[in-house]
Amino acid sequence: MSQMANGFEDKTLKCKDCGNDFIWTAGEQEFFSKKGFTNKPARCKDCRQKNRQKVEAEYFKVTCANCQQIGEVLFKPANPDSPIYCKKCFEEKFLSPVA
Ligand SMILES: [Zn+2]
Ligand SMILES: [Zn+2]
Repeated sequence: MSQMANGFEDKTLKCKDCGNDFIWTAGEQEFFSKKGFTNKPARCKDCRQKNRQKVEAEYFKVTCANCQQIGEVLFKPANPDSPIYCKKCFEEKFLSPVA
């Protein structure tokens, strides 16, 4: 435990994902209070990093082949050369009721 001049001191918190104890450092607490955050971090650094990587891995930027708008999809395009459609165009193209 290190007592800092700014009044914050390291705290031990429990990660809600892996259940491990982790240190919420005085420096991080100062950062939180400067940002106006009132919540304590719920996850340890490892789990926060894993979550971030997961989010990045699950979203892919694509350009719609029909309207040219850039959108995000939840799956990696299997074939980068095959046309990708945004939600709207996809629904119009493939899900419109047959006349
Ligand atoms: Zn964790
Ligand atoms: Zn489109």
